[in-house]
Amino acid sequence: MVDPTSDLGTDVDESDAPTCATCGDPIVQSATHRVVTWIEDGSVRHRHFCSDDCRDAYDG
Ligand SMILES: [Zn+2]
Repeated sequence: MVDPTSDLGTDVDESDAPTCATCGDPIVQSATHRVVTWIEDGSVRHRHFCSDDCRDAYDG
């Protein structure tokens, strides 16, 4: 049975949260969380941003 109020997938506490690559803020349950992935040296890398603004600011 599926409980629609379950918080499955929301059990990320601040110490495990990714941090924004631009401003360094921890990203916890942020609706504006953005993840950029790319391939480097044959493996997948991730970079997290707290918003589109930070993502755009990082590039360049
Ligand atoms: Zn940020």
